[in-house]
This record gives sequence, structure tokens and C-alpha cells, in this order.
Amino acid sequence: MAAAGNPSASTPGAGRVPSHQGWGLPVPDDRLAQALQQHFGWESFRPGQRAVVEALLAGRDCLAVLPTGAGKSLCYQLPALVRQGLVVVVSPLVALMQDQVSQMQRRGIAAACLHRGLPPQERRQLLERLRDRRLRLLYLAPERLQAEATRQLLEDGIETGQLVALAVDEAHCISAWGHDFRPDYRRLGQLRALCPGVPLVALSATAGPQVRADIIRLLQLRSPLVQVRSARRPNLSYGMALRPADPLPQVLEAVCAARGAVLIYARTRRSVEQWAARLRGADIEAIAYHAGLDPESRQLALQHFQDHPAPVLVATVAFGMGVDRADVGLVLHLDLPASAEGYLQESGRAGRDGLPARCLVLFDPADRVSLGWAIRSTAQPGAEAHQEAERLRQELAQRQLRRMEAVAEGEDCREQALLLAVGELVPPCGRCDSCLGRFRATDWSGQVGMVLQALEARSGRDLRGLAEQLAEGSALNQERWAWLARRLVQEELLSESNDGSQRLWLRPVAEHYLRDPWPLHWAA
Ligand SMILES: [Zn+2]
Repeated sequence: MAAAGNPSASTPGAGRVPSHQGWGLPVPDDRLAQALQQHFGWESFRPGQRAVVEALLAGRDCLAVLPTGAGKSLCYQLPALVRQGLVVVVSPLVALMQDQVSQMQRRGIAAACLHRGLPPQERRQLLERLRDRRLRLLYLAPERLQAEATRQLLEDGIETGQLVALAVDEAHCISAWGHDFRPDYRRLGQLRALCPGVPLVALSATAGPQVRADIIRLLQLRSPLVQVRSARRPNLSYGMALRPADPLPQVLEAVCAARGAVLIYARTRRSVEQWAARLRGADIEAIAYHAGLDPESRQLALQHFQDHPAPVLVATVAFGMGVDRADVGLVLHLDLPASAEGYLQESGRAGRDGLPARCLVLFDPADRVSLGWAIRSTAQPGAEAHQEAERLRQELAQRQLRRMEAVAEGEDCREQALLLAVGELVPPCGRCDSCLGRFRATDWSGQVGMVLQALEARSGRDLRGLAEQLAEGSALNQERWAWLARRLVQEELLSESNDGSQRLWLRPVAEHYLRDPWPLHWAA
């Protein structure tokens, strides 16, 4: 697995990074390169890694934004190994921590995780190993920082000089502007005060400028080294298409054409089960994976995914964070992803070996409505101050969902549109379905006028009612009118409520348009 885990040798461009820091070049009699070879079996660092490792070893804080598959975790694992000390890693999900720990253990590296669900006996064993300095990596759930025992553990680590560094994984979770804000993560602001003098590294695969600023501010990083690599993945080709009533033929076609492992994402546990069963019915040995399975079945599914030469796994999106399989040839989403940031992370699990891989989204306009409801149903009641934060979080989630829909329904380069959503500007990729020219544009200005007039007559009405009315006696059906209205929101002629009810208003530009229209060429 070691060679397959390091795609830098085969990733086009990976070796052509400016080499003033020796990136991508094996350096003989170099302690770091030796440790890399010894513990991970890799000949060279991947772009961005070495600078972070060196900064941490020099006692400097870091913010590392490295795309999925770039080997983020190595940035904090290696310092622990080189120093024979302990690195404490805060991570948002227990499943993710467990994945990481078992990966480390497979490499013979002493790692453990501490979370609420840990049985007392295992906890005792863990503390013993810590006392005996036998542990290199300790993964913590953020809520553990509240516990007196954890604080004591950190203090002891500092006193004995054992604590080499602190790492905050998925650091974007601390920002309300991130796609996965976790109020729990705000507690991590205490880390700096709890462990003064210990270098802290914050890591994320997708953090735009606003989120990066939040991470630095909220974690109180002191003049950190900021290491940001492009999220471009030149070996991935994106495709997004409307999902037909029964997408089984498309799914089968994509699965059969894929190389290596296949990850299929469905939104709910029920649809995960259903799709695994449907694929098995079509003679594909598909395995279901979601958080509702008992631990033993989950372990079996993971094992299967790890060991089978060409496994097909149907899962909820939580699966795959930290999965150690480089040859995923297809990541297929059966629903609209909830945000562009999240989608980049999920699709980024494809092609970590640097070989061509496909990322396909099958979506339906109804997905946004059901996802919008799901976002609203996660509202957490609380104190007034908290309610305001909750309202902002919900609005942001709805906006991110709308932006993801705009990427899927749009005709611009997929990669360009996705990266723009995380604050990176890149030229069209030349590989996605859009770049390969699936679309032909037509002029919609006549129909646009009708939508705007209908809203001028009754502003604030909801998208469905509007589409229904426009479809009466029209050659276009209701779905088409709804598409057009969504398009006008994306083009900022209309504004839409942020509560998920899809109520619409004219923006000033739309008023101009009604007085003096111009041609609007869109593919449909
Ligand atoms: Zn493209």
C-alpha cells in the first residue's frame, strides 16, 4: 500500500513544484526524508508537506490547506515520530478518528483515540501508555477539552516535554463560514491558553480566504506558516447530470466503466440500503455502509473496501474521511451534494493515486427542497444569542446548497465553478462534461420577461406556485419554468429567501431588465 499511497511520482506536475525547499526531491542523509521512508515507505514528500513538518519541529504554528489526498495527516504524524514524542490531534468525528488510528496501527505507529464512548478499561490502558511514553498520536474529540482529566493530560505532556505539537484536523469546522460548522469546535480557542508554547497546526482540505482568517483568529495561531495548495486535481473529471426517474442504467454504466474501487454516495441510510440491494440484484457485489450499522458490520464493510480488488461501496457522505485507498476510480453522488466545499472533499476521495478518475453527480431539482428541509430540521434550540448564530448557520447552509445547485445546473466548467466556491480562481479544466461541450445555448430572454412580470405583479411568491402558473397554457412545462426561475436567482436578477421556502423577489437589475431587456443565452 505504501507506494500506492504516495501518488507524487505519477501525479502530473507534482514533481515540478519550485524546489527551493527540496519538495519532491529525495534528499540523502536527511533525517526527515529517512523518517518518511522508514515509517511510511515513501521516497519523497508531497507538495506542501515538508514546510509544515519543518515549521512544527521548529516550534512554529501552521495553517495547512492541502487538498484531499495530499497527505495532510503526515504533516503532524511525522513530527511525533521524529521526536519520539506525542502529538495530540483534535478531530470532529469518532469514526474519522478510528479510521486514522487503525491506519496508523497498520503502519506500526502507536496511536489511540479518546472520546466519550471509550470503555473505562480501554481508557485506563490508554492513560498507562501515555504515562509510559509509548503513544505517538492521541486523537481527541473536541468536547474532551472540557474534561479536567484531559487538561491534566495536556499539562503533564508539557511538563514532561513529551508534547511535540497540537493538531486541529478539519479546522474549517471552527468557522461559521465553512461548510461544516461545528459549534463544538469553538472550544478549541482554549488550546492556545492550555498549551502555551506548543506549536499548533490547523489543517483543512477546503478553506477559502474567509475561513482561513477565521481559523487563524479563533485558534489564536501566532504568526503561523500558511501553506495553501491549489485544490485542483488534474486527474479527476467531473460530470453532473439530471437524475432520471430510475437512474439504475446510468449507475450501472458508470460502475462497470470504473477502474479500481467505487464509492457511491446516497443521502439517507435507507437509500444506502436500497441502492446496495439494487446493485446486488444487478450482480454487483455492493456493500452498504452508514452510521446506523452495528460496529461489527461497519468494520466488515471497511475491511471489504480496504481488501477487495474492486469493491463497490454505497455509503452516506460521512464515509471516506480518512479512508486509505488510493485507487478509487469513481465517486458517484446519487443526490445533489449539500455544498461545493463538501463536494470537493467527497469527490476528492477519487484518484489519490494520480491516475484518471471520474466524479459523477446525478441530481434532481427536488433534492434542494429535501436537503433544505433537512437543514432546517437540524436547527438546535437554545439561548437567544445562540439562536442568532443558529439562524446565520442555517442561512449559510441554504446559500451553500443553492450555490452547489448552480454549479450542477450551470454550463460553466465544473472544476472552475467548484473551486470558485472555495475562493480559488482557475482556468477551465478541459476534462469535465461541460468543457467537453455537452451544452448548446439558446436565448431565453422572452421567457425571462414572463417570469419577471409575474413576480412584479406578485412579489414574494414561492417558486413552485410561480412555475405552476407560468406552465398553464405554455409550451414549457412546470419543471422548465422552475429551472428558469432558479437560473434567474443564480444570475442575480431575483433574490430568494434564505429559509428554504424559495420565495422570490425582483432585484433592481430585474427592474432594469423589464424596462430594457437584453439577450440571455443559456444552455438547457
Ligand atoms: Zn471543465
